Amino acid sequence: MLPEADELYASLALRDGRFDGLAFVCVATTGIFCKMTCPARTPLRRNAAFRTTAAECRAAGFRACKRCRPV
Ligand SMILES: [Zn+2]
Repeated sequence: MLPEADELYASLALRDGRFDGLAFVCVATTGIFCKMTCPARTPLRRNAAFRTTAAECRAAGFRACKRCRPV
């Protein structure tokens, strides 16, 4: 069970890695999903949606990020 999206977003923005492997972030504006520790710029909160597996992100139509390779 994941925490609230706001808590996940805070962790993402800090890249603290607390949820690395437990959650992935799907970015609505780019159609890409990332690990919680991706070095790319943090998306805006309203564009970020969190899912628990890479498979779920793919099923939702997102592609894996080429920088952090969240596979
Ligand atoms: Zn990434």
